[in-house]
Amino acid sequence: MLETENKNTLSDYKLGLDYALEQDQNDVLKSYRNQFHIPKDKHGNDLIYMTGNSLGLQPKNTKTYVNQELEDWATLGVEGHFEAKNPWLNYHEYLTEAMANVVGAKPIEVVVMNTLTANLHFLMVSFYQPTQKRYKILIESDAFPSDKYAVESQLRHHGFDEKEGLVFWKPREGEELLNYEDLESILEIQGDEIALIMIGGVNYYTGQFFDLKRITEIGHQYGCIVGFDCAHGAGNVQLNLHDSGADFAAWCTYKYLNSGPGSLSGCFVHERHAYRKDLNRFAGWWSHNKNTRFKMRDAFDQLPGAEGWQLSNPPILSMAAIRASLDLFAEVGMEQLTSKSKELTGYFEFLLKDLGEDVIRIITPSNPNERGCQLSIQVKNADKSLHTKLTEAGVISDWREPDVIRCAPVPLYNSFEDVYRLVDRISLSLALSKREGTKIN
Ligand SMILES: *Cc1c(COP(=O)(O)O)cnc(C)c1O
Repeated sequence: MLETENKNTLSDYKLGLDYALEQDQNDVLKSYRNQFHIPKDKHGNDLIYMTGNSLGLQPKNTKTYVNQELEDWATLGVEGHFEAKNPWLNYHEYLTEAMANVVGAKPIEVVVMNTLTANLHFLMVSFYQPTQKRYKILIESDAFPSDKYAVESQLRHHGFDEKEGLVFWKPREGEELLNYEDLESILEIQGDEIALIMIGGVNYYTGQFFDLKRITEIGHQYGCIVGFDCAHGAGNVQLNLHDSGADFAAWCTYKYLNSGPGSLSGCFVHERHAYRKDLNRFAGWWSHNKNTRFKMRDAFDQLPGAEGWQLSNPPILSMAAIRASLDLFAEVGMEQLTSKSKELTGYFEFLLKDLGEDVIRIITPSNPNERGCQLSIQVKNADKSLHTKLTEAGVISDWREPDVIRCAPVPLYNSFEDVYRLVDRISLSLALSKREGTKIN
């Protein structure tokens, strides 16, 4: 463990580079940074990479895992399905247990397949079964665009008006974060018209990590199905999907799970649905009983559990990359990872606050249990020029209009020194802006 206890107050941290270096020295996960390729500037210095929430860095062992499959394909051709070092036929099974541990689920509840938005649709085929009375879908007002488009199109697909059918859980006037009391109020009024609640487990914009169990309980109390998009949660926070009681969830593997651009998605279907044959679903040969899959002429025989939602034989090269990354997660474990994460993000918060709360406002919740590693920061009167300056200073961060910078110090490969240098660059960029007489004041 990094330290036995997480720091409780920001005052436990100290200013200065020496402190950051000392924290890195004491970090039990420090060796993991060296297991990743860190992007460099043109002088060969490490960039300050703060966008693991968008695209996680490449583990150095990914190449070995992918090359193994390329090699077996080259030498074995189709026989690789059975004869490869890791036979391709059941390749997705090699990922299940480690992935289940990452999201806090049972192996029968988890499968890796397809891509994220596609999976949301396939899960809604089963879990969004509207009737004339109960047909609405509730999402966060600031849901990730792809999720919003997906649910709107589901409403249209079933013949409903997307404007009328979509219900938004909104922040209060002048606030960014969402309140559970407001969710309860919405359900009190129209709970019996809402078929599905689909929320981002960690909101991509604010970084708010929701209480999945609480949302699920509220939703189930009103007879709604509850699903989560955990794109910003998987590999970042402890989701405890099984205990949350959620009906389903999906996430991608290219953000915190470091599995490469456009890599596959993980899917969760709660155990209580594992043997249900009454659920509507789309099927393909990979949802069919493994023992008779290749007899080809048998009547359809549904696989139990999340695996039963698969359609196609999966892309092995992408799965090899996921496997490389999951091996690191299995070694470290989510508990150790989130323990460091809280330290690192707490330190980030401490340094930002030292810059002056009149200049910098942190949108993300200050309670470490209500966030992951990302902090979304609003700089007073800033515009995109601040982000440009940061980029010129070697910081890879993310700008969201109108005025938010999102930075995610990832505990597997970001250091305290990274965070120190990040805030130093923010501070310098602000001073620079002042001198240049831009809008920041
Ligand atoms: C990243 C992200 C997506 C992206 O979906 P893809 O289908 O993988 O392109 C969707 N939803 C959320 C909440 C995301 O964070």
